[in-house]
Amino acid sequence: MNAPARVAPGIAMATSGSAGCDRPILRERGQREVFCGLTGIVWLHRKIQDAFFLVVGSRTCAHLLQSAAGVMIFAEPRFGTAIIDERDLAGLADCNDELDRVVAELLARRPDIRMLFLVGSCPSEVIKLDLRKAAERLNATHHPATRVLAYSGSGIETTFTEGEDACLASLVPTLPDSKGERLLLVGALPDVVEDQFVRMFAEMGIAADVLPARRAGAQPAVGPGTRYLLLQPFLTETAQRLEARGARHIPALFPFGAVGTRGFLAAAAEVFGVPRDRFEAVIAAPERRAREAVARYREALAGRTITFLPDSQLEPPLARFLSEECGMEPIEVGSPYIHARHLALELDRLPATVLLSEGQDVDRQLDRVRETRPDLTVCGLGLANPLEAEGLRTKWAIELVFSPVHGFEQAGDLAELFARPLRRAERLAV
Ligand code: SF4
Repeated sequence: MNAPARVAPGIAMATSGSAGCDRPILRERGQREVFCGLTGIVWLHRKIQDAFFLVVGSRTCAHLLQSAAGVMIFAEPRFGTAIIDERDLAGLADCNDELDRVVAELLARRPDIRMLFLVGSCPSEVIKLDLRKAAERLNATHHPATRVLAYSGSGIETTFTEGEDACLASLVPTLPDSKGERLLLVGALPDVVEDQFVRMFAEMGIAADVLPARRAGAQPAVGPGTRYLLLQPFLTETAQRLEARGARHIPALFPFGAVGTRGFLAAAAEVFGVPRDRFEAVIAAPERRAREAVARYREALAGRTITFLPDSQLEPPLARFLSEECGMEPIEVGSPYIHARHLALELDRLPATVLLSEGQDVDRQLDRVRETRPDLTVCGLGLANPLEAEGLRTKWAIELVFSPVHGFEQAGDLAELFARPLRRAERLAV
């Protein structure tokens, strides 16, 4: 890797150093405005249907989940918070005993829980509560009826989507061994979108497993014959752990829009030797639908400028989709982390004029937004209102994570998410 050239305190310009991608990246380390990794529970708790997420945290953590998740008060919830109170923070209570008691009570009341995630938070880190050790201890009591795992979702260690990465990474060592050659799709998607991918691969003759599976006892096997595709760009630690088990990554575009989804599917089809005509026959109809759906929004989006502030790590592939398929002009594409190896194909396709930035120094970044005044700024909830008040149009980044946006059938909806605030602004102006 090239030595970074320092341009200002807390900022460095560097090249990504990845094969096939040698673009400069502005690296900033300052105050950041991003949700913590606990937020991932909002979508993960729906995915593994017999799992439970027990946040070991404070009332603040509980409030975050309740307000972000719109807590399910009418259904038996699949997450909860073991509250660490001031007595615990002062080191007066043995949190391990307390945790064992809470877990025993929970599992006695809810014998349907097959997998229990202990999720670390800022408070549990501050008092140095070792949840990995706690999970080992609790497994001795509760496994095999319930497997107990631990990961961190704290705002000290993780941003927004890194909670999913930490969760899936904690699963990898528990996966059974596999010897055969299999395709593994990695990432939590809404069931209907996941089914679309699995069905298309099946039509090509490829049996695809998914991590995470929907049931605790049905998690996929992994081994040296495993070839995996990442559905999300933020699964860095999960990828490392899969590779430690012998699995090999298939470099591909991320499946956003018609072009990205074709690239994603084609990469696996090539590795698994799917004949070209069979591949084209399988994707022909859904790809056509995707192109037609995106075309409906092109007029609203083409020529409009956009800046992404760092939030979900989806920013580079989304910017590629908007520029390549919708004709938008990205000015700055900021992301909390840019994993150059996983994103090399995406970064290569972004226009050369785009400023890529990694990390955040929020004041500096807002200065750049005010200077360039993009037609649309994708940012977190806390920054959207102030920017709107300054006459800038914004899009909440969190919507892009909570909405089904992957794959051919969702390509039109994805374009619409960006067109909507621009159209609204036009209507208000009239
Ligand atoms: Fe706040 Fe930390 Fe709890 Fe996240 S983990 S809600 S950042 S206290």
